[in-house]
Amino acid sequence: MCTSNMDNREPVESTALPVWELRGALSAAWDAHNRVVLVAPTGSGKTTQVCQMILQDGRNRDKQIVVLQPRRVAARTVARRVAQEMGVELGSMVGYQVRFEDVIAPETRIAFVTEGILLRWMQDDPTLSKIGAILFDEFHERNLLSDIGLALVKSLQQHSRPDLLVMVMSATLDAAPLTEYLGECAVLESQGRAYPVEMHYSEWDDDLPVWEQAAQKAAELLRETDTGDILIFMPGAYEIQSTIEELRHSKIKTDIAIIPLHGELSPQDQDRAFATASCRRIIVSTNVAETSVTLPGIRFVIDSGQARIARFDTEHGISTLHIEPISRASAEQRAGRAGRLGPGDCYRLWTLDNHAKRPERNTPEIQRMELAEVVLLLHSFGVTDAEHFDFLDKPDVERVHRAEELLVALGAITAEPHCITDTGREMLRLPMHPRYARMVIEAKKFGCMREIALFVSLVSGRDLLTRLNREDKSARRNRDGLTRLDQSDYYLLAASFAHALQNHLDYKTCYSYGVNPHVAREVAMTYRQILDILNLKEDDSGAIPLAPNEAIQRCHLVGFIDQLAVRQGGSEEFELVNGRHGTLMQESVARRSPLIVVSEIREITTRQGDKLTLIGIASAVDAKWLRELNPPQLHEMTEHVYNRLNKRVVAARVLRYNNLVIAGEALQKLDPVATGQVLANEFVYNPHPMSVPRWEREVKPWLRMVARKRTQEPALDLPEFTDEKIVQVLALAWEGGASFKDIADRPLLPAFRAQLTDAQLQALSH
Ligand code: ADP
Ligand code: MG
Repeated sequence: MCTSNMDNREPVESTALPVWELRGALSAAWDAHNRVVLVAPTGSGKTTQVCQMILQDGRNRDKQIVVLQPRRVAARTVARRVAQEMGVELGSMVGYQVRFEDVIAPETRIAFVTEGILLRWMQDDPTLSKIGAILFDEFHERNLLSDIGLALVKSLQQHSRPDLLVMVMSATLDAAPLTEYLGECAVLESQGRAYPVEMHYSEWDDDLPVWEQAAQKAAELLRETDTGDILIFMPGAYEIQSTIEELRHSKIKTDIAIIPLHGELSPQDQDRAFATASCRRIIVSTNVAETSVTLPGIRFVIDSGQARIARFDTEHGISTLHIEPISRASAEQRAGRAGRLGPGDCYRLWTLDNHAKRPERNTPEIQRMELAEVVLLLHSFGVTDAEHFDFLDKPDVERVHRAEELLVALGAITAEPHCITDTGREMLRLPMHPRYARMVIEAKKFGCMREIALFVSLVSGRDLLTRLNREDKSARRNRDGLTRLDQSDYYLLAASFAHALQNHLDYKTCYSYGVNPHVAREVAMTYRQILDILNLKEDDSGAIPLAPNEAIQRCHLVGFIDQLAVRQGGSEEFELVNGRHGTLMQESVARRSPLIVVSEIREITTRQGDKLTLIGIASAVDAKWLRELNPPQLHEMTEHVYNRLNKRVVAARVLRYNNLVIAGEALQKLDPVATGQVLANEFVYNPHPMSVPRWEREVKPWLRMVARKRTQEPALDLPEFTDEKIVQVLALAWEGGASFKDIADRPLLPAFRAQLTDAQLQALSH
């Protein structure tokens, strides 16, 4: 029987840890500057000790010491450790706050919080008046919010809080760019003395799924050693589950506890990994265990070398979360988990060759993520010019502009100059991408929050529907039978999801409908989280909203208004804003609508090597809704064009979103000035214009003569008849004419002669 123990309130003596040797140096650095960069290996005591030193030093007086953590799990467990070391109750002198959990009291002096929390505090109290020191821990992770937080704190310190102590800490940080950015600051480095960790690499690249490789290695370790817990790193919850299943199938001893650890588990379930146990344990974790935390008993680390990494995909215009190889710095952090309580071993499921090819460090999030959310956040701090903000690593200007354009389209900020709007402020309160936040706000108006919560869950992650080949006739038939509603792909996605749930995510059933059961599980989780955020209860009957509802399409339109698409003729080809074209994806049901809005724009390369733009997750749009919304990009105007088929000028009332023509209505009455202009343009700029006999006979020879005279006798100062000038003269002469037939008999030469002075005309006749 394996028992575990969490509740250890005995004070712990940790002053033997390496950072305490730096105590004198740190104290001197704090006196000299109020900015310190501390680089010390994992296990030296940065996370748990430095905050205690500051407190003991007494330089902070009655203010709080805030330690920023990139992850919620770390904030909670590290706070508990420090409380235990100090022999105090968690939530009194030492506390923590993360999204959904606030364990901080008025008497709290050391607070572990995630970066988002600090930014929220800053919105309420811009000078952070209750805080005396801010420690950016694990700064090498370079999260978007820690970068923004450091920039804002730096500026705060320069302007109104020179007394604020700022520290940046990490085990694997390149200090040089950071010190240059911070300007005046002290850099302290410690060699530390974490326990040695021996590295082992794979001898060849194995094609087996990583969870099988990891399970094999774990089984081997259990056979060959008697003590020491094992920590396995996997990229995500699915791979963790697969590893656990694999471990259960392999013949390992029965008194082994197998424990999953990832960000989506409840705090209670996460705590299992941090408890000591009477038996050997295998913990299978995502990179939540990569930094900050100490898991008791770990002697062996088995690392898949992979992580889910968020990026902004400029092609799709969406954020992605793909599995990628981790950097060498991440791998070092993971290995460090084996040497925290004694010497350890790390098994890397990749070769030494492969290791050398990996990037040294992670790319900062600011350089790989979509910036709309951050630009909006900066606006809430009064930073209206994100392009020139004091970033440690500047994001690409183009991406900043794209983010601003999107925020303008969503109505979160005004067009030049950019200022945050009330809608923008409301959007900031929702912890989701601005597009989805905007949809939710619209849903409040229409009373379809549940639907939009589901919509967002369905479209914000991986594809729920699998791609069907031509051979998958039965799956296609099954899928077609799920819904008859063809006004929005929402209906198909929601029906597919409902069907998957009804069948308890059974693999066979799901795949027979072309539904990915893993994604369905993720959708269910996200749906629950969003309902939670919106303070909505999950429907008691568990019913999925499936009824047709125009409001869903209207909300979709508002969130993706810059991705409107107009059908070209009767085909599946659509024109998009900015002159782009796209083909509707096979999976889409919105095959009959002339005007749609799409959530997905994906560029692919065909087998023939051509580039093809696919568009999907569509909803039909009624132009009437657009008029009601009346965004500043929408213009309605009368346009005159020359119709070459009928050889006449025609007029239409045209509705445009930017340059995309949404709708046009032919007009009977033409504007005489405009028609003359259209005919003149057609005549001058069409390479094969209609013939106008008077032009050929009279004007052309005359223009030739003027041009000749102009070069021969510059003193005459004759005008140059450019194309533009000719259009001007013709437009006036042809005013009111709707076709070349209409104007054929009108005199032309006098209009051109009128451009010259009497003296010039006189000179020409000689
Ligand atoms: P760093 O941030 O430099 O990696 P920490 O302050 O997190 O170091 O931890 C320093 C050391 O303190 C660890 O190596 C470990 O020996 C001990 N320690 C920290 N947290 C715990 C814990 N929850 N249980 C047991 N020991 C711990
Ligand atoms: Mg740490």
